[in-house]
Amino acid sequence: PRKFIVGGNFKLNGSQSSLKTLVEGLNQGNLDSNVEIVVSPPFVYLDQVRKAVRKDVAVAGQNCYSKTSGAYTGEVAPEMLKDLGIEWVILGHSERREIFKETDEEIGIKVAHALKAGLKVMACVGEKLEEREANKTTEVVFRQLAAISKHVSDWTNVVIAYEPVWAIGTGKVATPDQAQEVHKDIRNWLKEKVSPEVAEATRIMYGGSVNGGNAATLAQENDVDGFLVGGASLKPEFVTICNAKA
Ligand code: 13P
Repeated sequence: PRKFIVGGNFKLNGSQSSLKTLVEGLNQGNLDSNVEIVVSPPFVYLDQVRKAVRKDVAVAGQNCYSKTSGAYTGEVAPEMLKDLGIEWVILGHSERREIFKETDEEIGIKVAHALKAGLKVMACVGEKLEEREANKTTEVVFRQLAAISKHVSDWTNVVIAYEPVWAIGTGKVATPDQAQEVHKDIRNWLKEKVSPEVAEATRIMYGGSVNGGNAATLAQENDVDGFLVGGASLKPEFVTICNAKA
């Protein structure tokens, strides 16, 4: 069985003081020990959060670069995250793709480099509203997966986050059926293009307007192995989401 995993992507939010409070809340929370929990603050707060948060909660960067060092002003290497004791990184988030124009190919290279550096990766995929409406959901998601697969052979430390762009920050959560359908398609893709073993073992998280009220029903779907949570991860209800499968 795949271990349920819940990530909190804080995006561009927080301060030393607000994250201190947030971490204290998590540290006091009654968290299901069968769930893997990962929180992802902005780079400058990674060290603070890693040092303060309980040891059964892991920490992720929200991005990293495809190089180890050099003249790349403003970038952060996965090796630097490792050096800080960070275990995870989120890559290919739709905001990186859309706002910062990261391409499928760049994301594939970044995933491979982060894995090589010893990080675990939450690799994000997902279609935009117009793509869904044009019945291009699987085409887009499979294209994004193929760009990762092109560079990655060992999927052990990869978790896929399916985040339909139309559901992110909109309050329009995918229905359990909609999420399950795409998750199943992703698992079938892995089965065909990678291997049945990888398809069976790889966790697929859902992200997009997950909250304390909708998490439990989504969590019941066979191929929903966790959540990647944005807005609600900054609130006390994050604990409810972490325990949604319990
Ligand atoms: P929201 O939960 O705020 O919709 O964001 C989802 C997300 O982008 C997580 O990476």
